[in-house]
Amino acid sequence: MQKQLVKNKRGLIMGMANEYSIAYGIASALNTCCYELIFTAQNERFRQKITDIEIFKDCDIFTCDVSQPGAVPELFQKIGNLYGSIDFVVHSIAFSDRKELQGKYFDTSRENFLNAINISCYSFTEVCKYAKDVMPNGGSILTLSYYGAEKVVPNYNVMGVIKAALEASVRYLASDLGEFNIRVNAISAGPIKTLASSGVGSFSKILEYEQNRSPLCRNVTREDIGKACAFLLSDFASGITGEIVHVDCGCNTVGVKF
Ligand code: NAD
Repeated sequence: MQKQLVKNKRGLIMGMANEYSIAYGIASALNTCCYELIFTAQNERFRQKITDIEIFKDCDIFTCDVSQPGAVPELFQKIGNLYGSIDFVVHSIAFSDRKELQGKYFDTSRENFLNAINISCYSFTEVCKYAKDVMPNGGSILTLSYYGAEKVVPNYNVMGVIKAALEASVRYLASDLGEFNIRVNAISAGPIKTLASSGVGSFSKILEYEQNRSPLCRNVTREDIGKACAFLLSDFASGITGEIVHVDCGCNTVGVKF
């Protein structure tokens, strides 16, 4: 019965840049649980990086730059033609000009705001819209958020505002897709050093601060996030949708810690 809950699940992971990516932790956990994985990479360079990883070298990898009009519908059409249907999608994609991940939020430029929200938030809505067409048996869709959506985190700036929009999108999309038995959730992950997070000003201070206030007295790992993801994508989580699930070693629950 328990094996049945993850058996034969096939899905798409979008946003693995390298072995430091949160998507790498997710893909590794899912691989351990015998989920069948398909990847997308932003471009050919990142595609090659995934191919270079031994455990994923035989997986299908498509390129998909979500900022390009038509790229997402084209991707899901290809997936439908090749596989018929899939059971899950993990959206682990974000971008902002790193110059705007420091200083004051009010200095955010219109150009970066629109580009960043297009890639980091709108793309998730578009992914959900087209993923539905290849999920005739229902499914589970996940994105990645961060505590900066809820409270001010120094330097996170425009990305905090965009993650707030992403979290609201999760609730609306869960409402839209529920009738198709498609669940939509976000994991709000604690801070982890990656290509994207290294662009956030004073990121090492955020890591240190979170470690100090964490009830578990440590920072979250890619493995922690991967395991939570494996749960949320499985039928063990069949009643969970529209949720922002914190996987951050309890940091968001602690206001003050001496
Ligand atoms: P990462 O740099 O490894 O991954 C970001 C990914 O976004 C990369 O694979 C990149 O290619 C992709 N991307 C950027 N622009 C794209 C585009 N136009 N088209 C397609 N893909 C594009 O960094 P990460 O930290 O693993 O980030 C993954 C997700 O996790 C992001 O949504 C991020 O905001 C979120 N997150 C990260 C942390 C953290 O501390 N690292 C914490 C919470 C949430």
